[in-house]
Amino acid sequence: MRRVVIIGAGIAGLAAAIRLAKKGFAVRVLEAGSQPGGKMSEIRKEGFRFDTGPSLFTLPHLVEELLEEKLSSKYHKLNLITRYFWEDGTLVNAWAEADKFALEMEHVLGVPASAVHKYLDEARFLYEHTAEMFIFNPVMSLKTLFSAAGLHALKALPRLKAFRSMHSYHEQCFSNPKAVQLFDRFATYNGSDPYKAPATLTMIPHLEHNLGAWFPQGGIYQIAQDLENKAKQLGVSFHHNEAATLIHFRGKKAYTVQTSSNTYETDLVISDVDIARVYDHLIPHKPLPMRYINRPVSSSAIIFYWGIRRTSPMLDVHNILFAEDYRKEFDALANGTLADDLTVYLFISSKIVKSDAPEGCENWFAMINAPYDRGQNWNELRLKARNIILSKVQRILGMDISKDILVEDYADPPLIAIKTGSWRGALYGISSNDPMAAFLRHPNKVSAFSNVYFVGGSVHPGGGIPLCLASAKIVDKLIKK
Ligand SMILES: Cc1cc2nc3c(=O)[nH]c(=O)nc-3n(C[C@H](O)[C@H](O)[C@H](O)COP(=O)(O)OP(=O)(O)OC[C@H]3O[C@@H](n4cnc5c(N)ncnc54)[C@H](O)[C@@H]3O)c2cc1C
Repeated sequence: MRRVVIIGAGIAGLAAAIRLAKKGFAVRVLEAGSQPGGKMSEIRKEGFRFDTGPSLFTLPHLVEELLEEKLSSKYHKLNLITRYFWEDGTLVNAWAEADKFALEMEHVLGVPASAVHKYLDEARFLYEHTAEMFIFNPVMSLKTLFSAAGLHALKALPRLKAFRSMHSYHEQCFSNPKAVQLFDRFATYNGSDPYKAPATLTMIPHLEHNLGAWFPQGGIYQIAQDLENKAKQLGVSFHHNEAATLIHFRGKKAYTVQTSSNTYETDLVISDVDIARVYDHLIPHKPLPMRYINRPVSSSAIIFYWGIRRTSPMLDVHNILFAEDYRKEFDALANGTLADDLTVYLFISSKIVKSDAPEGCENWFAMINAPYDRGQNWNELRLKARNIILSKVQRILGMDISKDILVEDYADPPLIAIKTGSWRGALYGISSNDPMAAFLRHPNKVSAFSNVYFVGGSVHPGGGIPLCLASAKIVDKLIKK
């Protein structure tokens, strides 16, 4: 039986473990932390449970195909995806059903429903023509270019909009600035800046508004648990609290993976570790290739996990309280700091998972976009963010929650970096602001190593749950039985 060592039990490492076990490999997963899931983790405190990282989950079929079961009974499809609030009292409900959402945009913002449909149809066109080529295949090669997927993608080339920004495209589609802001926000789904990121990324809303967003009955962390359980059923062995420290090579071939307590012989290695750390720590004899050095990384976040002793009938699971000047917010991020007004994302899983908070209470995940770590004074920035969030909640929702916080925890870029190994605390690997970003990510396999593969949010095709799962699918294709 051929052996594979997988380093890291993030979502992509778990997916790779299942795929390789199904292929007949003896799979061993080394995980530095005590839990599976990496960024997809959870905290439990005094009767409250919080998902710590991802909260918006799309493309569930990528999990279904790993678990080999229909998830409709235990993963709930959201009817209302997000409630968007503005300072002047405007509220838009982003319904999952495209017709209902388009009508809401027309009634509340005066945007013709037909303009919303046209926008979402274009997003669908882009996704359907390019996903197979750019998301589910290895980074561009002549073979993929001349494949059926490559030829299909060519049809979308004139409509890719790679050399204009998302924001300028949205201004062309919608005359209402709030509609522009609402769709601009999708740039943050891979840590980008809508004023810089290519309008190609306007395919992201297709996932939510044409295909739908889902929520597992046990919270987002249930996805990591379900995947780990499935992997265990398939015979995968997990070594938690055992970080890999070095991969040993003979020429181009890796033959052992070392940890502080063991050395494991192996035929293949799959790394789910942030690619910058792989070259720094695990393969120190090879420097990170020049084209990745000094590339800016995606944005990070400051998150407060608040258990509060009250409920909020005006809120749903996913809520956005928009900043008045969105451009200022992104300019500040680019300069490594925070603006004085911030867009606040409130995620409250206890709206669905009642056991996530005690009776009469709620578990608030209050997040703002933050710059990646460049050695800023994070105590200061965290305090600033906390004050801005609390006063924004009071202004827009009329709730003074400061005295109702029973339980508090937080995450910021340095902590995210320490806990998940992510370079500079970036949530999604290298920045996607560059129109060529899709081609600049580290490939899933490079010729310098004959039996080492790379998965996860810092390599091709990118960050976010669906793309991480896609990276494992690509590696599965690359590895012969
Ligand atoms: C706050 C936040 C919000 C997010 N929101 C969303 C969202 O709403 N929707 C979405 O789709 N995505 C979201 N994301 C992004 C998404 O969570 C990530 O892209 C994805 O989970 C990354 O998975 P990964 O496989 O790259 O592994 P990671 O989650 O990065 O995990 C890597 C694992 O490797 C382990 N490791 C590192 N070094 C070693 C070593 N030497 N030896 C052994 N183990 C090691 C780490 O402990 C970790 O468990 C969010 C992320 C964060 C942090």
